[in-house]
Amino acid sequence: MRIEIVEVGPRDGLQNEEEILSPQTRAKLCDKLAAAGVLRIEATSFVNPKLVPQMAGAEDVVSGIERRLGTSYAGLVLNEKGYERAIRSEVDEIRYSFPVTETFAKRNQNVTVADATALAGRLVERARLDGVRVSITLSAAFGCPFEGRVDPEVVLGIAERVGEAKPDEIILADTIGVAVPKGVRELVAGVLSYGTTVGCHFHDTRNTGIANAIAAVEAGATVLDASVGGTGGCPFAPKATGNIATEDLVYLLHGMGYETQIDLNALIECARWLAEELGKELPGQVHKAGTFEPVAG
Ligand code: ZN
Repeated sequence: MRIEIVEVGPRDGLQNEEEILSPQTRAKLCDKLAAAGVLRIEATSFVNPKLVPQMAGAEDVVSGIERRLGTSYAGLVLNEKGYERAIRSEVDEIRYSFPVTETFAKRNQNVTVADATALAGRLVERARLDGVRVSITLSAAFGCPFEGRVDPEVVLGIAERVGEAKPDEIILADTIGVAVPKGVRELVAGVLSYGTTVGCHFHDTRNTGIANAIAAVEAGATVLDASVGGTGGCPFAPKATGNIATEDLVYLLHGMGYETQIDLNALIECARWLAEELGKELPGQVHKAGTFEPVAG
């Protein structure tokens, strides 16, 4: 069974790091990830650099990448302006994300959930015409920093409307890292019933990220976001760790018999390199402990 890993370190990871890396270094990170066999990379986000200085020079990141055949390079967008920048940069894939609660949607993107949902439909249509892959992320799908617990029925209602536009996949994001496996299983199964490919995006804010990832996969999710080294954080929990670490996830998935096409040793090297670039220890564990190859026979 194949699981698609979408490496979000260059975007979600670095966006929440204090240290700002140059577009050249961010492009190099993408190249190292691709060389390790990562087939989908969220290279950057096309947002206002005044608001997110870590993502300044998004166009330079994409043009600085040595494109590897078979690897899909994605740009995160939050609105049509971002979409247009991403398309001009010639990304292979658009990822559009919006929060499922009104307060968060208003604060993050200054939109209503209804308008954001309608935009998802329009962007899927445009992406089809532009010939790029498109995924829609429902952020704060398990809990909102402003409204607290999110009713799964509300998320399912939004997912159903988004699913009607037929994106390549719907990603359920635990933006603030509050989900637990039981809720993950229920939501993944619910969204799968609309006939879309389902992915998940977990933050390890409360040490539940990896458990949630396995629950998601066992419930039928086939795409998982992760960031190399576990870079990043949670904008609403200043001391929190970031996304689940790609190398930890890959170690676990391979051990369970899932395929990812990723060379774990090369990925570990990439995590160690990134820790040096950022000048700090990263929360991922397998890049510190190393792999473990049981002796055959
Ligand atoms: Zn995230």
